[in-house]
Amino acid sequence: MKRRAVEIGLSRRILVTGGAGFIGSALCLHLVLRGRHRVLNLDKLTYAANPASLAELEGRAGYRLAIADICDQEGVARLISEFRPEIIFHLAAESHVDRSIDGPEAFMQTNIVGTQRLLSATLAYWRGLPAAEASGFRFVHVSTDEVYGSLGPSGLFTEESPYRPNSPYSASKAASDHLAHAWHATYGLPVIISNCSNNYGPRQFPEKLIPHVIIRAIDGDTLPVYGQGLNIRDWLFVEDHVAALVAVAERGQVGEKYNVGGHGERRNFDVVQGICRHLDHRRPLARGSYADRIVFVKDRPGHDLRYAIDPSKSERELGWRPSVDFEAGLAQTIDWYLEHETWWRTILAHGYQPARIGQLADISTR
Ligand code: NAD
Repeated sequence: MKRRAVEIGLSRRILVTGGAGFIGSALCLHLVLRGRHRVLNLDKLTYAANPASLAELEGRAGYRLAIADICDQEGVARLISEFRPEIIFHLAAESHVDRSIDGPEAFMQTNIVGTQRLLSATLAYWRGLPAAEASGFRFVHVSTDEVYGSLGPSGLFTEESPYRPNSPYSASKAASDHLAHAWHATYGLPVIISNCSNNYGPRQFPEKLIPHVIIRAIDGDTLPVYGQGLNIRDWLFVEDHVAALVAVAERGQVGEKYNVGGHGERRNFDVVQGICRHLDHRRPLARGSYADRIVFVKDRPGHDLRYAIDPSKSERELGWRPSVDFEAGLAQTIDWYLEHETWWRTILAHGYQPARIGQLADISTR
């Protein structure tokens, strides 16, 4: 069944789960500051959250943070019925592949059980809406290209690519995609799914490749690269992902899925070298190059070789296009970390160690 497009040009009530994380905070900032929407950010504030990312929104009438767990169905249902969202963007997740190797349990709880409970709470609310509001309502489930598994040297993931997740993280996200689809197919909930490639940009927790390398470089540490650094990711600037999510909610067809990617394929080694080159220019060392500190370390188990997205459906049907090319976005990201040391030094001061994890440690007790 086709439904009318949602216009989110006007002030709407929008619930964002995981809005204190990397992509969620960029989305909340965009929706409140640019879109003038009223946003409820439902976030458990795990280690990956940083409320400092949302300092600009504190005290604004159009924004509220509710500290809550998506696994708590009653609590979520209460927040939904009080706020009466017109759109829900679901981003809350455990998101780091290496952590999922060492401790998969939290990924199953939040990404699978939490998504099911959020969908069930949303369904109960949606069923109680007057018909006009129910037909305009959207639940945007935010997912990853990692659900499709690994590509060889050629080919691209399309929306029809089979699901072949390889890590506990991607398996849990694949399960959540199936649940989101099932809540549409079985109960009619107006769900749309987006599958996006690797994001980078300001405010990303320093465990992920790009900020990890930047802060280690600034602190004079070695720059570890998994294996030979030949794994390829299709990088997308976070603001472009945010624009895609808004386009999905506005113009996406209910029950459909949309791949989002930036035509930004790069080998990990080239990404690390790019960071070194920019730092050589912006903060030169007394001697040598940052690239002299690159070291190759044992590969991640099950490390997918290549991800690459065919975003033509999103471009054609949503009128969305990435606007930031990788070199410009990387430079902007590095500059942000150079200019916001307090943001990431606070994370280090709270005990985060930018060290290697995910090497098949004993998972039996986690
Ligand atoms: P992140 O780890 O930076 O943030 C996740 C947020 O979810 C945090 O604020 C955390 O506190 C919150 N959260 C975790 N468990 C929760 C729970 N049980 N209840 C409520 N809140 C909880 O993640 P991110 O990189 O911003 O990714 C956001 C979403 O986008 C995820 O669903 C991820 O799978 C997806 N995604 C990420 C990327 C990427 O490259 N980062 C790419 C494609 C898709």
